[in-house]
Amino acid sequence: MSEHGAVGNAVEDDFELPGVPDAFQRLWTPHRLAYVKKSEPVEGVHDCPFCAAPGRSDEESLIVHRGKLAYVILNLFPYNPGHLLVCPYRHIPDYTDLTVEETAEFAALTQRAMRVVRAVSNPSGFNLGMNQGVTGGAGIAAHLHQHIVPRWGGDVNFLPIIAGTKAITQTLGDVREQVANAWDSVE
Ligand SMILES: [Zn+2]
Repeated sequence: MSEHGAVGNAVEDDFELPGVPDAFQRLWTPHRLAYVKKSEPVEGVHDCPFCAAPGRSDEESLIVHRGKLAYVILNLFPYNPGHLLVCPYRHIPDYTDLTVEETAEFAALTQRAMRVVRAVSNPSGFNLGMNQGVTGGAGIAAHLHQHIVPRWGGDVNFLPIIAGTKAITQTLGDVREQVANAWDSVE
């Protein structure tokens, strides 16, 4: 396993970084750092990542499409590559808070996101859903968001079961570019 630094019983540390080398292999998931650091629940607009995201560039925020009343963004903590979130621009917590117009666009963006992800990466299925409230499992309960998770046969391996860890095979930047580029061309 030389690519991970541990070669047989000889361990090399070319960078002489602090820490004691050991036999464990690391699954590096630096994108999870923000999640681990987050300790306070999001309540208001000012500390809400879904309110802040549209104020930055698409590349910085991993936004794939901006609609009139809602936008589509990559999940920073994807269950699979191409895991998208549809969010209204308004900071509202509940599905029933959407206006008629927002509901229509929210649904249309969900459908389009599925078509685009199908065209880009050909999943064999999807999980769609909204976790409502902290008790319902929402990480950011204060701002409504719909999950769109593409699924492939065999995409669930032992990692999430034994370690709460998921191996992601593509970088978020690559996925954002693919989905954003395909957004307007897919029928
Ligand atoms: Zn918000």
